[in-house]
Amino acid sequence: MHIFTPMNLSVESHSISISDGNCIPLLGLGTYGDPRTTPKGTALECVKLAIEVGYRHFDGALVYFNEHEVGQAIREKIADGTVRREDIFYCGKPGKEFYPKDQNGKYIYHQTDLCATWEALEACKDAGLVKSLGVSNFNHRQLELLFRKPGLKHKPVSNQVECHPYFTQPKLLEYCRQNEIVIVGYCPLGSSRDASWVNVKSPPLLEDELLVSIGKKYNKSSAQVALRFNIQRGVVVIPKSFSPERIKHNFQIFDFSLTEREMKAIEGLNKNIRLVELLMWSDHPEYPFHEDY
Ligand code: NDP
Repeated sequence: MHIFTPMNLSVESHSISISDGNCIPLLGLGTYGDPRTTPKGTALECVKLAIEVGYRHFDGALVYFNEHEVGQAIREKIADGTVRREDIFYCGKPGKEFYPKDQNGKYIYHQTDLCATWEALEACKDAGLVKSLGVSNFNHRQLELLFRKPGLKHKPVSNQVECHPYFTQPKLLEYCRQNEIVIVGYCPLGSSRDASWVNVKSPPLLEDELLVSIGKKYNKSSAQVALRFNIQRGVVVIPKSFSPERIKHNFQIFDFSLTEREMKAIEGLNKNIRLVELLMWSDHPEYPFHEDY
């Protein structure tokens, strides 16, 4: 089991081991931006800049509608010699049709069999198409289902779920630690607060008084404190930004560290309220968030 030593993190070296023998950088760039308001080419330019800044981990998906730009940016930065392919950790999430609905506007669900889907992913790894296999938005029961699958060949190495100081995931994190699964925290800055898909019942994370005051002590922002909190406890963060200043800003989290007391205080901010509830799919048999964790 990997012994986590947060004090050793640096711009050049901030990866942790995952259970399949690969490594994952603790800081990655999230790449979901609303396709209706994000100009074409934005993700391309932002990912190229991020690579120059030092990011080596990118979180994308076909459903973000810009995955081709993320891929092109990585290709261009390899071609110009800035980075090698083996230094980039890219997380993708495949699918065929986007959120199909019937004539009454009701979502048409796929007959989900998580174990069969997992076997298909195992075949992708065996064919050399992917290096590491993880899941997203799995609760502990769904993880357990995979772990108990007869003939399991490759264990999930990561679970990408919401994680930030207002939703710290204490139970799932403990379960994942025991099972050598790394948590990749999405919405690590409290999300875009776009009410069309985000539950905005909790106040804005980045205005939190404790995060702001801890930040003042280190000459850091609440955003940098929120990110540092998670990486310091071994949770990977994937803040999204399409602003050059904030892409750089969010990377400046390796030159300070939080005390144990500050870590505990930030843990105490947990409100147990999800920003991403995905309630439109709450009648799906595998809807993950009916469970406590
Ligand atoms: P984040 O918590 O990363 O917040 C992004 C928002 O914060 C944007 O509006 C961004 O605006 C703004 N922002 C970025 N940096 C700063 C800063 N330093 N100070 C103030 N505001 C800032 O939320 P996301 O929902 O984007 O989550 C991150 C990533 O996680 C996604 O991009 C996606 O890759 C992944 N994700 C996965 C999900 C899943 O179900 N698996 C669900 C949701 C997200 P700007 O761009 O203008 O800087």
